[in-house]
Amino acid sequence: MEFNFTEEQNLLINTTKAFVKAELLQHEELLEKTNNLPKELYDEIKKKSIEAGLYACNMPVEHGGGGLNAFDLTLVEKHLGFASLALAEIAWRPQNILMACEGELIDEYLKPAITGERKDCIAMTEPEAGSDLRGMKTNAKKDGDDWVINGTKHFISNAHISDFVVLFASTGTDEQGRNLLSCFLVDLHQKGVEVAKGYDCVSHRGYVNNVINFNDCRIPGKNILGEKDKGFELMNVWLEATRLTVAATSVSRAERAFDIALDWSANRKQFGKVIGKFQGVSFKLADMATNIKAANLMLLESAWKIDEKTLSSQDAAMTKLFCTEMLGKVSDEAIQICGGMGLMSDIPLERIWRDARIERIWEGTSEIQRHIISRSLLRPLGA
Ligand SMILES: Cc1cc2nc3c(=O)[nH]c(=O)nc-3n(C[C@H](O)[C@H](O)[C@H](O)COP(=O)(O)OP(=O)(O)OC[C@H]3O[C@@H](n4cnc5c(N)ncnc54)[C@H](O)[C@@H]3O)c2cc1C
Repeated sequence: MEFNFTEEQNLLINTTKAFVKAELLQHEELLEKTNNLPKELYDEIKKKSIEAGLYACNMPVEHGGGGLNAFDLTLVEKHLGFASLALAEIAWRPQNILMACEGELIDEYLKPAITGERKDCIAMTEPEAGSDLRGMKTNAKKDGDDWVINGTKHFISNAHISDFVVLFASTGTDEQGRNLLSCFLVDLHQKGVEVAKGYDCVSHRGYVNNVINFNDCRIPGKNILGEKDKGFELMNVWLEATRLTVAATSVSRAERAFDIALDWSANRKQFGKVIGKFQGVSFKLADMATNIKAANLMLLESAWKIDEKTLSSQDAAMTKLFCTEMLGKVSDEAIQICGGMGLMSDIPLERIWRDARIERIWEGTSEIQRHIISRSLLRPLGA
């Protein structure tokens, strides 16, 4: 693994940073104050992201994407993640899993997602099935050539502005009576689908989650992604990498919080000295910097392993766990260093701290990551 970035990678980093500075940061305050992202602003940022070549940079060149490998994509994600998620997400990318499209699905879903004409969202979670996805009740039944879908998904990010959903649903049970899952592409503006308001969330203002109800929703037989009953396998192939996205954005927000705390430590005076002169403060900085460095290295190693095709579930889980928990600690300590001002909305720390909370929950909770890691340690020993 090469520790120096190439000239192209530095260019990519600088392009992303410049985009964040010019197009995203200025809108953070509006988002914080209104908890709302106006449609015109969404469209404008998306247009600029397409022009800058950032949109769909993860997607294959032959279908019009940017063709970045996982390592370079992680660099882009990390630096986009510096900004409020609701803004950064616009400049982002279609879900990796769409690369599983075959046949007519390529022209109907994959290509329009890459050009930005059609937006995707992804729906796995249900009111009674979060960590235990196999317990999902949403089901798809074959009727002639079609699939008929019934059920409810909740916590679905950005469904209100999406055109279609990558939907996981039960398509039967195995011999042990366990749910078998399959993955479908479902247009959201069709009969039998209702996108309803979700919940108000303390993290990531302006980033909307929805409930989606499917009521005898009929879709063509071809709209299945991958093989019937192989939804879990599909998740493993395509969705492990999304844990690194969470890790990447966590690292850059921790760096942002750290820089604020460092600056404060070097300038805020109490008892006639800058507070950074007190070990009670400076040792916090030392621990924060060390943890950020460790998180960065784990992140880059995991991204590199995706390209090498050697990333294990354990690697992805460790990286997500460490980077998100590190962000929680760093943002909390940064507030401590800034004292009362740390909690005021005049500086973005209280927001980074609030936003940090969700990272230990979505894309698999910290407990689920620990479960994956510990199983991979113990299983070979038969325990
Ligand atoms: C704002 C927001 C947006 C989201 N966007 C999406 C989206 O776009 N699409 C989507 O499909 N999902 C989305 N999610 C869902 C997210 O991935 C789930 O919230 C997450 O997987 C946890 O599920 P849960 O909230 O139902 O918690 P639960 O699974 O009910 O867990 C509750 C607690 O029990 C613990 N627990 C559960 N099982 C175990 C176990 N075996 N061992 C130890 N502890 C355990 C958990 O760690 C947690 O602490 C989103 C969530 C939020 C909050």
